[in-house]
Amino acid sequence: MVDPQWDFDAIGGEATSVEDALSSPESVNAQVAQVLSESVGEAPLIPLPEDDRVTLGGGLYWDGELVTHAQVREMTGEDEEALARVKGSLARWLSMLLERTVVRLGDEPATPKAIRRLLIGDRDELVLGVRIATFGKHITAQNVQCPHCDEYFDAKVDLTRIDRVSLEEVKPRHEYTVELRAGKSAVVRLPDGAAQESIFENADATIPERNSLLLAACLVSVTKNGVADTRTGVELAKALSVSDRRTLIRFISETQPGPLLDDIRFDHEACGKEVRLTLELPDLFRGE
Ligand SMILES: [Zn+2]
Repeated sequence: MVDPQWDFDAIGGEATSVEDALSSPESVNAQVAQVLSESVGEAPLIPLPEDDRVTLGGGLYWDGELVTHAQVREMTGEDEEALARVKGSLARWLSMLLERTVVRLGDEPATPKAIRRLLIGDRDELVLGVRIATFGKHITAQNVQCPHCDEYFDAKVDLTRIDRVSLEEVKPRHEYTVELRAGKSAVVRLPDGAAQESIFENADATIPERNSLLLAACLVSVTKNGVADTRTGVELAKALSVSDRRTLIRFISETQPGPLLDDIRFDHEACGKEVRLTLELPDLFRGE
């Protein structure tokens, strides 16, 4: 099911503000999760550095070099005003946030072009970094109901201790070969910010249409018995069998690095049992 409310333009065409984002029932990471729609397995943990340095679980290939660190800064009132003027999808809002607050990628000043090339999971990691630089590392999720003892409580989450997926094998340009059925194989690239924007540009797109856009953005080539398919983009994505599409989307979902904002786990002090929680990206800017 697609909730059209995920796109701020669907809310009466008003400009987006942080408050709008906070009241939006859906947000981009939920939407991405919906598109990818597969759960990921047990994830290795990597620590998030303190202050304004952010470690990128995927990294960015730029001029042939793998960039794995970034520097962010806290959000200002000027940023807040600029973000309130963003029209379009939450993916576009995220790009604007990152264009303004990511200071350096590796040793170089960050550029909008480089930021759009960052993997979706690394963009989530940078948003977390900006949030920590702006409001600190703790966030309180209010009125969470414990599924074990039914008690309602306010959960304090340490954002530096959220589970993260890191790449088991870093490939040049993040390109991986995936075996498909009937002698076919595909080379796919993990989705980046540009892919994220194209997937969510049309608020009315159905899930299969979004899947086609995702695959169009990620497919580098498809070969059958060594012969390359000459089709490209959405045409190629639509020509694939449903089974092969699922195989590819599952691979992309399971491989994508980044913080597991949709599966935050902590212990409920009152009963000592584990509670799981989902945080949407705009929730992060609620402040304490
Ligand atoms: Zn409990």
